[in-house]
Amino acid sequence: MDRRQLLSDQDDFPGQQYQSASGPGYGGPNGPQDGGASAPPSDTMDTVPGYEGTGLGGNDLPYQGPPQTPGPRMPGPQAGDWQIPSISEEVAREAFLEYAGSQCCYSSKPVKEMVFSDLQPHNTYRYRLETFTESRSTEWASEPYTGQVVDGFMGVAPGPWEIPVSFPTLFQKSKKEVRVPHTSSVKGCHTCMSLGKIPCKKCVTSGMVQCWVCHGSGRNADDRCHSCNGSGRARCTACSGVGSKACKTCKGRGQLLCFIKLVVKWNNNVFEKVVDKQSGLPMDLISAVTGEMLFSDMQPMVYPVTGFPDHAISQAAERGVREHQAQYFSSCRILQQRQTIELIHITRVHYSWKEKTHIYFVYGAEHKVYTEDYPAKCCCCTLL
Ligand SMILES: [Zn+2]
Ligand SMILES: [Zn+2]
Ligand SMILES: [Zn+2]
Repeated sequence: MDRRQLLSDQDDFPGQQYQSASGPGYGGPNGPQDGGASAPPSDTMDTVPGYEGTGLGGNDLPYQGPPQTPGPRMPGPQAGDWQIPSISEEVAREAFLEYAGSQCCYSSKPVKEMVFSDLQPHNTYRYRLETFTESRSTEWASEPYTGQVVDGFMGVAPGPWEIPVSFPTLFQKSKKEVRVPHTSSVKGCHTCMSLGKIPCKKCVTSGMVQCWVCHGSGRNADDRCHSCNGSGRARCTACSGVGSKACKTCKGRGQLLCFIKLVVKWNNNVFEKVVDKQSGLPMDLISAVTGEMLFSDMQPMVYPVTGFPDHAISQAAERGVREHQAQYFSSCRILQQRQTIELIHITRVHYSWKEKTHIYFVYGAEHKVYTEDYPAKCCCCTLL
């Protein structure tokens, strides 16, 4: 399913796209200061049907929207023989050479002189389930009132899950904030008591401060202070002598447009399982490499993949789908799930150098190397 179809699913909601609340003057670096909170006190707000519990920084709302059902059951991947060596001796040597070169002080001599005795395939599988979810919460918010449309009494506010908000990219974390229609009203600014200005603390509203040159005496040595002409006082620089400053919460307007803000968050939740075939390669290294895609299934909701030759994969799929259902089904909206099975190439290479045998691993499409017993970890050793 492509993105267009997904978006059109979302457009089934009534109404049009609403204005984003993240425009100029909304929060951000120029947000309110001077002790004012960006959000107005919620106990002075109107009661909006369907939003009675809205406070400051709301909790996630339980999902209430169209029912979510799994898509069609996909046929499982075809059985195949994947236990074949996936790299040649040449590739194994190249990867090893690169590895030795990337380590501080490792000599490349063993790589150039080694004799291969065996290349064993220890390929394994990675099952991955991604669940792309959407959660929503509401809170009161405000911005300076400069004559915007006030829609609080112009209609009924749609429920939080009825407001269409489209996500930017599938399977990627993001966040959007939108204004809930029909919740806005104009209130006096709570920071400045609707005055639009706040008293200057530095000069205590007088607009004048003590002269910094003469410290208020009016005299400098035996002469009159030139800086203040002997008055001992100077203009307050904090307020330019006005005695007050414009309120930053309302940008000097004295009034705020208060509304309910809907916060929509998208998250990609990942469940992953790599089958440990006891090859000796630490399994946590696998997460850094890419595999060969054997199976991929993307649906609004998936059924656990079945019929895969390796039983551990079917078990992991069963567990992953069940866990994600339990975790996300009612607490948020599941928008899309994707499950994949990858074949991870692992080759255990046995070689001998200076009549001793050693082992290293080449794994993943990137041909990464892992070894515990590199025979010449210091260049000096090979000079002997
Ligand atoms: Zn002075
Ligand atoms: Zn001042
Ligand atoms: Zn104000």
